[in-house]
Amino acid sequence: MLRITELKLPLDHTEAMLSATIIGRLGISPEQLNGYTIFRQGNDARKRAAILLVYTLDVSLSNEAEVLARFHADPHILPTPDTTYRFVGQAPSNLSERPIIIGMGPCGLFVGLILAQMGFKPLILERGKEVRERTKDTFGLWRKRVFNPESNVQFGEGGAGTFSDGKLYTQIKDPNHYGRKVLTEFVKAGAPAEILRVSKPHIGTFRLVSMVEQMRASIEALGGEIRFQCRVDDLAISDGQVQGVTLASGETLRSRHIVCAVGHSARDTFAMLYERGVYIEAKPFSVGLRIEHPQSLIDTCRFGAAAGHPLLGAADYKLVHHCQNGRSVYSFCMCPGGTVVAATSEAGHVVTNGMSQYSRNERNANSGIVVGITPETDYPGHPLAGIALQRQLEAHAFVLGGGTYDAPGQLVGDFLAQRPSTTFGSVLPSYTPGVHLGDLSTALPDYAITAIREALPAFGKKIKGFAMDDALLTGVETRTSSPIRIKRNGDYQSINTKGLYPAGEGAGYAGGILSAAVDGIKVAEAVALAMLRNE
Ligand code: FAD
Repeated sequence: MLRITELKLPLDHTEAMLSATIIGRLGISPEQLNGYTIFRQGNDARKRAAILLVYTLDVSLSNEAEVLARFHADPHILPTPDTTYRFVGQAPSNLSERPIIIGMGPCGLFVGLILAQMGFKPLILERGKEVRERTKDTFGLWRKRVFNPESNVQFGEGGAGTFSDGKLYTQIKDPNHYGRKVLTEFVKAGAPAEILRVSKPHIGTFRLVSMVEQMRASIEALGGEIRFQCRVDDLAISDGQVQGVTLASGETLRSRHIVCAVGHSARDTFAMLYERGVYIEAKPFSVGLRIEHPQSLIDTCRFGAAAGHPLLGAADYKLVHHCQNGRSVYSFCMCPGGTVVAATSEAGHVVTNGMSQYSRNERNANSGIVVGITPETDYPGHPLAGIALQRQLEAHAFVLGGGTYDAPGQLVGDFLAQRPSTTFGSVLPSYTPGVHLGDLSTALPDYAITAIREALPAFGKKIKGFAMDDALLTGVETRTSSPIRIKRNGDYQSINTKGLYPAGEGAGYAGGILSAAVDGIKVAEAVALAMLRNE
């Protein structure tokens, strides 16, 4: 097989046109083309009047060697890479110890699945509830203002990504094709097969819930065990080697191989690790506000007359602006046709984020408009100082929202004119339980407000209408990535605590569902190899 990349055809092309383009591109006769499969399909909408579909194709030819030789200098015609996943080992039948995984988000789920597939019978400890119960608690906040600190958008089976847009793309380098393994497992668990093919796959919330259940069943069928409502409150370490964990119930469990995949919101767990002497450092993250526009505005601006075409779906965007005060503002976690959600994991806090269903057919588009911040300039002095800043902003947002878990909000026109908002315009908020209009100028540090005030009109030059008066801002967006890094060595173990494997987003090694899952595979391999060496 050979792989052709960057093959472009008009939006409404026929199958015959695709074959003809392959034949023309490779300079072969029709008889030499045995067949092809679409590896990836995206679109190029830079020219709205002539939107193109962009293909990566795996092509079978009768004269493959000759074609490859002819195109040896062409980076878009290469042998198809082998993306088969191969396990690094197999557990012995007399396994004396089970690895423990703390947290069952995408990272912990994949550590657990891969270790189970290799026969290591992992034990997963998750502080939250199983996903159906957790869904009820999450909706409890959204619909009734009842908040459960152990079962919410951040905590519970499936982790933070369960109530999300389920975007499954990442910019990480992936020479071993681990991302393919992740997508393949997702499809086995019930994700639509198209996620293997489209360039920007997404799953949406409803499907994620049943997929997570299916993956749990797979891990259990392979001898793994999952315990819910089991918060790890302490870590036993002696002579720099981890020995086990203590649960909130007081129960202790022993293992010399413990994966810490607790996500970016496990602030109590980070504090515990810090007190136990595990090396942690502060890292940059971002803070900002969420913006909502009519999805039709984004669709028309991106796709012009082709807006609404079934092959294009709801349009997304990605924006960045470098401000005069040296800050960068960028769009984060853009959710086409989605809703803004209450995403706190602590009582008396308000945090925004976004989610959507697979159909992405809600009326509004939303995204975080966030400003990059760094420990050196913005929260110096202590490895956990970024968490203190997050807490301060979230607690202040709770007050600005009226102290009822409503999000504070302001219309873009008012935000730019520096006057409080009193009534909604044409864009109605999707955030529940509600939005309390007012003035967001104190919701973030001054430098961030100044930067966002500069960035919105600049974004309006790229997407006409982006800075429209009626667009709605809510806040605050603080859980963009982990404010810390639990530093690890090349063997994926903490640099000062042997047997502890910091993993995923919370440890500072991933950002998003796919990269957290890929990190989970890498960590599972490291655990397996260390256990096979009897370390
Ligand atoms: P998490 O998913 O945070 O999982 C950590 C788990 O550890 C949690 O289940 C938690 O309960 C558990 N835990 C924490 N402390 C303990 C403890 N002490 N003991 C036991 N268990 C513990 N990313 C995307 O790529 N695409 C999207 O569309 C997207 N949308 C999002 C929408 C929302 C609303 C949110 C909140 C996030 C979204 N993200 C999205 C981000 C994505 O969810 C995270 O990047 C990803 O879930 C990180 O995976 P993780 O496994 O590292 O951590």
